[in-house]
Amino acid sequence: MENCLFCKIVAGEIPSKKVYEDENVYAFHDINPNAPVHVLVIPKTHIASVQEVGEENLSAVAAVLKAIPVIARQLGLAENGYRVITNCGEDSGQTVKHLHFHILGGKKLPVALA
Ligand code: AMP
Ligand code: ZN
Repeated sequence: MENCLFCKIVAGEIPSKKVYEDENVYAFHDINPNAPVHVLVIPKTHIASVQEVGEENLSAVAAVLKAIPVIARQLGLAENGYRVITNCGEDSGQTVKHLHFHILGGKKLPVALA
């Protein structure tokens, strides 16, 4: 996908602080962290948001979800827990139109989500 920031990160055209990579998944530190640990987990293939998830890309999405607990353990979050968030579309404030799951942790997070 041309002009997609996260596709460029996957391609190595834009630098990132990698925390995990496998055949289908890439994870890196958020550039503007909202918690002591703030990592973004993305499919390597371009999917715009949860709204674009369907039969045709389910295996890529499953790979991302499967990687999240592995990454959380690697980051030392498994024991105390963490939050997983994905923004979808205008009202959510989604700024990068490539599906990504925020992993937030490293402290007791505020309860309010909205
Ligand atoms: P969202 O608002 O859910 O679309 O999240 C996009 C996230 O991407 C934000 O938390 C940004 O801080 C983060 N972000 C934007 N550009 C970069 C980048 N070059 N490297 C790492 N994270 C980024
Ligand atoms: Zn993309």
